[in-house]
Amino acid sequence: MNKRQKAILKRNIFLSACVVVVIAVLALIIYVISTISGDKDTTSSTATSSQNISSEVTSSVDSSSTETSSTDTSSTESEEPSSSEITSSKKPTKKLDKDFQNLTLVNGWNPLPEDYDYEGNLTTIPQKYIKGSLKEIDKDVWPYLKAMLDDARAEGIDIGVWSPYRSYNTQKWLFEKQVKKQIANGVPESEAEDKAATVVARPGTSEHNTGLALDINCANSSFENTKAYKWLTKNAENYGFIMRYRKDKQEKTGVIHESWHWRFVGINAAKEINRLDMCLEEYVEYKK
Ligand SMILES: [Zn+2]
Repeated sequence: MNKRQKAILKRNIFLSACVVVVIAVLALIIYVISTISGDKDTTSSTATSSQNISSEVTSSVDSSSTETSSTDTSSTESEEPSSSEITSSKKPTKKLDKDFQNLTLVNGWNPLPEDYDYEGNLTTIPQKYIKGSLKEIDKDVWPYLKAMLDDARAEGIDIGVWSPYRSYNTQKWLFEKQVKKQIANGVPESEAEDKAATVVARPGTSEHNTGLALDINCANSSFENTKAYKWLTKNAENYGFIMRYRKDKQEKTGVIHESWHWRFVGINAAKEINRLDMCLEEYVEYKK
């Protein structure tokens, strides 16, 4: 083999090596992109695969997988039953079943049945989402609420749960407190209960007794001036929530406008309710 042939051989080997390296790099890039954007596996498998890639990739994998892997080992938030089903903030509604709905109608003239199982389907909301003292919500609603809170927070919105599920007894206590307040304000005892019922729902007639609704951040009209309120009016339907007590539907709902009170109905249902410009009372009637 002469010098020239040797040089050609060397060059060919070098070029082949380059091609192999380029292919390997391309394959890695495709794999990384599909891992990040795919997001379709359960979070645990995403977490596992991310460990095989570089550390930068691991850090850019969505937070829900990190959360899940930490809950797997030892977590103080073990009440979080459905966290593995929650999607990342990038694709909020991907894993949420859009058809799932709950149109239970509860209002002043539609109380819950006397044998209603108040404690039947609840889960505890992790502390990091809580702004008040009550922490329970319907466990089928929780994945939707969690996705909504996570996504709003990812956009820098100050949002949390003020008052979710209330037991019959808590509602009773609130109602009786309001009756006493009315009497103290000079309302005759015979009228005090009716007057109180315009402010606090009688036990068994509050949506809070179902675990399907919650007050967000606070329970007063200042909420209407917050970014959280603005965000919800634009986005809540994507997570199945509607503003339950609108100003213009007061006669149909029997409740004053409450900008802070949001009710889960289901994603498709919420979108349809908003599109039809209805309140839940009208929608339930319409669906009959
Ligand atoms: Zn409320």
